[in-house]
Parts: sequence; structure tokens; C-alpha cells
Amino acid sequence: MPETNRRVIVVGGGVAGLAAAHALHERGVGDFLLLEATRRWGGVIRTEQDGGFLLEAGPDAILAQKPEGLALCRAIGLGPRLIPTNPEHRSVFILRRGCLHPLPEGMVLTIPTRVVPFLTTRLFSWRGKLRMAFELFAPRRLGGDESIAAFMRRRFGAEALELLGEPLLAGIHSGDPERLSIRATFPRLSDLEARYGSLTRGIFAARVRRRSRGSSQALFYTLRGGLGELVEALVKRIPEKRRRLGTRVRAVERAGEGYVVATNAGERLSAAAVILAAPGGAGAEILSDLAPEPAATLKAIPFVSTAVVFLGYRRADVDHPLDGYGALVPRTEALRMTACTFFSTKYAGRAPDDHVLVRGFFGGTRDPSVLDLDDRALAEVARMELGRLIEVRGEPVLERIYRWPGGTPQMEVGHLSRVAALERQLAGLPGLFLIGAGLRGTGIPDGIADASRAAATAAEYLDGRASTVCHSLGAV
Ligand SMILES: Cc1cc2nc3c(=O)[nH]c(=O)nc-3n(C[C@H](O)[C@H](O)[C@H](O)COP(=O)(O)OP(=O)(O)OC[C@H]3O[C@@H](n4cnc5c(N)ncnc54)[C@H](O)[C@@H]3O)c2cc1C
Repeated sequence: MPETNRRVIVVGGGVAGLAAAHALHERGVGDFLLLEATRRWGGVIRTEQDGGFLLEAGPDAILAQKPEGLALCRAIGLGPRLIPTNPEHRSVFILRRGCLHPLPEGMVLTIPTRVVPFLTTRLFSWRGKLRMAFELFAPRRLGGDESIAAFMRRRFGAEALELLGEPLLAGIHSGDPERLSIRATFPRLSDLEARYGSLTRGIFAARVRRRSRGSSQALFYTLRGGLGELVEALVKRIPEKRRRLGTRVRAVERAGEGYVVATNAGERLSAAAVILAAPGGAGAEILSDLAPEPAATLKAIPFVSTAVVFLGYRRADVDHPLDGYGALVPRTEALRMTACTFFSTKYAGRAPDDHVLVRGFFGGTRDPSVLDLDDRALAEVARMELGRLIEVRGEPVLERIYRWPGGTPQMEVGHLSRVAALERQLAGLPGLFLIGAGLRGTGIPDGIADASRAAATAAEYLDGRASTVCHSLGAV
């Protein structure tokens, strides 16, 4: 490979790969190429329109607390397109014994911060409330990782685990609370314990600080036309000759001080650096010959399958006021649906006038076999369970199913050590960077943060190599 090769190849055109390619372009790395296996950019981000409904097949929200997602939107001109979740109907419901109960006002994740709504809610039993209040005095445990379930039981008790820890904390990851790592999935919660000895105390301290800063932004945002706008805007900003659809990478090989990226079409593209943004098993396969140990570590991160069912109804056919963002379904309720979003309440502009749009979630570790149902059977389950929950009296006017086989990573107990090991194992392959879902986070802002770090390090690496080459040439 010629010494002048300064090309960076980015593998995978989901949000992480797109953000990495965009960051390289912004940093003035002139020679890079983004390769995506399928005929569509965005990976699991997929926005579609149908009969006046706006559907998000995958993610729908950007978490404001992790600033990288919103910052990128603003940097690429999407600031005016950002919309917050509906500020008027912010309730989240929990299904308990067949009835929907709103989470008491002031609950922050699993932490009650307002006394009266907490005391008067019928969601928790008196014994459960007492145990949750005891969180203030529960002994602090420092060091080491533990599961979401162990953490919740220890701090808030078994009832809070059943009604909040499992459907809310583990539910976000479609995972098993007994296996997911609290430190990898909700580091803020374990940090609050470490710092304040109690999450309740910690959240009050954070609230006082926020008030003094006058911050009142919403927790989640999206884009007026859906998150597909983010994908489109990124694609537009990456020059056409620097991106390619329909190119599946088969392997990355070492070639001198650089790499060769082999595609399924038989091409062999040389690169000085490679940013691998093909998550989980896909990334592991690409690395399997070059770096068997990191490939095995990567492959050991489990991914689970989920399905999303959208149902659109005439407003008049739904009795529930849908006055919230949606509902969580604890495992003990014995439904196949794990959660649902009242999509047309959560965001403006998601359903035509006089209609509503709801979205049911299925699968994950709780019910992997639901993915074996064909579309008709899955839609039937969704209609029946959602229909009962929101009191539907008519037929849906829209029905859409999206499946995400192996689409959701599980950051299990020990995940952070696994990723640290992966980074050590990759140290012998300078110029190779692994980013994307399931490594240093599972959300859009995590992928974007990862991408911009990798692009910066890749650019530095190229500069370092160039100066080494210049220096040695100078010496000759
Ligand atoms: C149903 C669902 C809902 C979610 N909701 C939210 C949410 O509301 N908010 C949030 O922040 N996050 C959410 N997430 C998570 C978030 O969407 C993902 O973390 C993020 O989009 C992953 O981006 P990525 O680029 O790492 O991976 P992906 O989106 O999986 O993209 C990887 C890309 O790599 C390509 N690829 C794979 N193998 C190869 C190969 N050999 N050669 C070339 N290309 C290859 C794939 O085709 C794909 O396009 C959700 C995820 C799902 C599935």
C-alpha cells in the first residue's frame, strides 16, 4: 500500500457510521468512503408516511440529557426542526392488575420526588411505598457491577422492581433485569448512589442545581418530520462520491501499516484507517480473521429481536383519552405486548385530524417467540391487547408491522469490563476503530458521541502517520 494512502473507510451506514463520515468530512479528512450493505441509509432509524400518519419503525426520541444527539441536529441545520415531546400530557401509565395507573407526578425514572402524588397513587401498595421511601436510608454499596434487578431490590424493594425496574429500566433495552448491567445501562443511577448515598437525595440535589441554572428543557426531542430527517440531512452533507449503498463488507485485512477492506462484490479497497460501525455479530464476522479475540469478545455481546406494531384509529373509535406518552406492561400482567406508545399524543403531527396513532412493542428477552408469529397473527395479538388497553370500538384504519431481528444490544453485567478488554485487544491494530450500538451505549446520542470521538482519533492518527512519514523522509 502506498505511504500516501490517507483513506478512512467507514463500514455501516446507520446513525453511527453516518455521523462518523460526517465528522471526518467536517474535520477536512478529504479521502474517506462510507460503505453500507443495504440499499437504505439509517440502519434502524426508519421514518415512513402512510395516509397522513407518520411512522417511526425504530427509534423515535433523542434524549436531551446526552447532549451529542441534539448538538449534531443543531450543527447540521435541524435546530428549527426539533420538537419536544408534548408538554401537556406527560403521564406514563403502568398496567397493574388490568388497569392503567399513571406514574405519580414527580417520579424521575424510579425515584419519587413529590410526596403527595407518591402517597396517594394506587399503583404501589402501602408496603411497597414504605420500602421505596426507605431508599433514603438503604446502605450504600460501592464498586463492582450488578444487575438492574439486584440494584432495584437493594435500593427500592421487590415491588418497585416489578412495577418500575422491569418494565421501565430493563424495558427500554427489551432486556432481562436480572442480566442487564445497571452501570452500563443507567450509569447515572449508580453514580447518584455512589455520590449521595441515596438516589432520592441525589435527585433532589440535581434538581436544586438545575433550578439555579434555570434549565427547563424537555427530556426527549424528535424532528418534525421524524428521525429520518436526521439521516437525510447527514447523507446530504456527505459528498456523493464518499458514500455507497449496496456494498457489504466481508472482511478487513491487515496490509502493511494499513488495511484492505474486502467487499462481497470482490473489491479490495485499501485504507489507512477503518471505522467499523456494523454492530454486534456483523462487526464480529468482519473482524473474525484479522482479530479473532476481539471478534469473539464482540460476538459475546447478546442482541435480542423485537417487533413494533403501529395501529391507527379514528379518534371516535377509541374511548381512552390517551392523555400520556404511553403505557408500560410489567411481566406479571401476562400480556405479550411489553409497552405501547400513544404516538399521536407524544408528538405533534403524527396522525391526521380526528385520528390517533398507537405503537405496541413486542419481543425482547421476555418473549422471543412472538417473533415467530406471521404478520397476521402478530397484528391480531396487537389489536386485541392494545384494543383492550385503550378501549377500542372500531377497526384500525392503519396497521403496520416492523421487525428488528437481532436489533437490540444487551449490555449485561460485566459489559464495561468486556468493552475495556475489547479496547485492550484492539491496541495492536492502530487505525482500527469500533463504534456503534451495544458498545459504549445503546442510544442515538451514544452512537453519535462514539462516532465523533472515533473520527477525531482517526484524523489524529492520520496526521501522526503523515508526520512520521515526513519525518523519516526528511531524515533520508
Ligand atoms: C425499535 C427500536 C427503538 C429504539 N428507540 C430508540 C430511541 O427512541 N432513542 C434512541 O436514542 N435510541 C433508540 N434505539 C436505539 C438506536 O436506534 C440505535 O442505538 C442506533 O440507531 C444504532 O445505530 P448504529 O449505527 O450503531 O447501528 P444500526 O442502526 O444497526 O446501523 C448499522 C448499519 O450497518 C450496516 N451493516 C451491517 N453489516 C454490514 C456490512 N458487513 N457491511 C456494510 N454495512 C453493514 C447495516 O445494514 C446498518 O445499516 C432504538 C432501537 C430500536 C431497534
